Amino acid sequence: MNKLVDNYNRIHNYLRISLTDSCNFRCIYCMPNEKMQCMPYNHLMSPQEIFTIAETFTKYQVNKIRLTGGEPLVRHDFADIIKKLSNLPVELNLTTNGVLLHKYVTLLKEINLNTINISIDSLREEKFKFLTKRNAFNQVWDNILLYVNQGFHIKLNIVIMKGINEDEINDFISLTKNFPIQVRFIEFMPFNGNQWKKSKVITMKDMLTIIDSQFSYQKIKDNNNDTTKKFKVEGYEGTFAFITTMSQPFCQGCNRMRITADGKMKNCLFGKDEFDILGILRKKGDIEPIIHSFLKNKHKKMGGQFDNFMKLNPDYLENRSMIKIGG
Ligand code: SAM
Ligand code: SF4
Repeated sequence: MNKLVDNYNRIHNYLRISLTDSCNFRCIYCMPNEKMQCMPYNHLMSPQEIFTIAETFTKYQVNKIRLTGGEPLVRHDFADIIKKLSNLPVELNLTTNGVLLHKYVTLLKEINLNTINISIDSLREEKFKFLTKRNAFNQVWDNILLYVNQGFHIKLNIVIMKGINEDEINDFISLTKNFPIQVRFIEFMPFNGNQWKKSKVITMKDMLTIIDSQFSYQKIKDNNNDTTKKFKVEGYEGTFAFITTMSQPFCQGCNRMRITADGKMKNCLFGKDEFDILGILRKKGDIEPIIHSFLKNKHKKMGGQFDNFMKLNPDYLENRSMIKIGG
């Protein structure tokens, strides 16, 4: 069977599908400050279109799909979408801000959802509110506990920004003492409208210096194509990890492709190139050859836009905002 391979011989078996560009949070690093116009519902892929596109990718050995957004759980037809996708021969995962998760615990158990990534950037109610512009810490935290107790494999995503939440890194690591979760520290990335500055980035190296002051830990083995670098405090149940997109990008082993909520294929989070595969599908065209040929345009590194973040001028980055790409 054919595989999806780009011009740098990278085999692509992982598809990230954004279900919507709307969200019930307003995270400062993701959502632009100015009032955002969300896509009208008829511009979004329908549950059947999502299934058809995903199924097409699985013909070419895509075996991992992640649903993201915007906030995927704000879609009223989320249950329909995930039930349909659960019939495909793929490992299905979800990234969510967690605030609506309590509504879906039975369904997600039924379909055996593998792992859920829940974003939570602070363990302090007030700071959580400042970061998300929503008073929702307690609901998100209760849902994390609910899902951990139900035996789901939970990863917490934490975007670390200088002067904002690096003082909580060790508190997050302490959570791994008794919870079998992974806490993942993400280096702050630049997107349209998110006020990114290199001075706000805390790299893995900086974070490890903070962690060194309190914990004794060991490196654990990373899997092929992993975007995380994993560690564990000796004797703790859980693990911690870093997503080093800025300081040590993982483009060399990249296996990921993306579909935006309005059905555009993107080869890279940082790339400005897109191809409207939903448009082709709606005109009853054949999307298979397009997927292959568009992947051949994939840039070697960072969407062809930069290769060293220390030299990056965010004013020259051309891309959507994170919420419109799908993280
Ligand atoms: N709404 C869901 C959520 O928050 O988990 C899914 C979409 S969100 C865009 C996906 C992930 O991207 C989240 O973990 C979020 O923290 C991360 N993210 C958003 N903007 C980011 C940025 N500028 N730098 C690093 N990570 C970012
Ligand atoms: Fe919404 Fe997730 Fe972006 Fe926060 S990070 S604004 S929860 S899409």
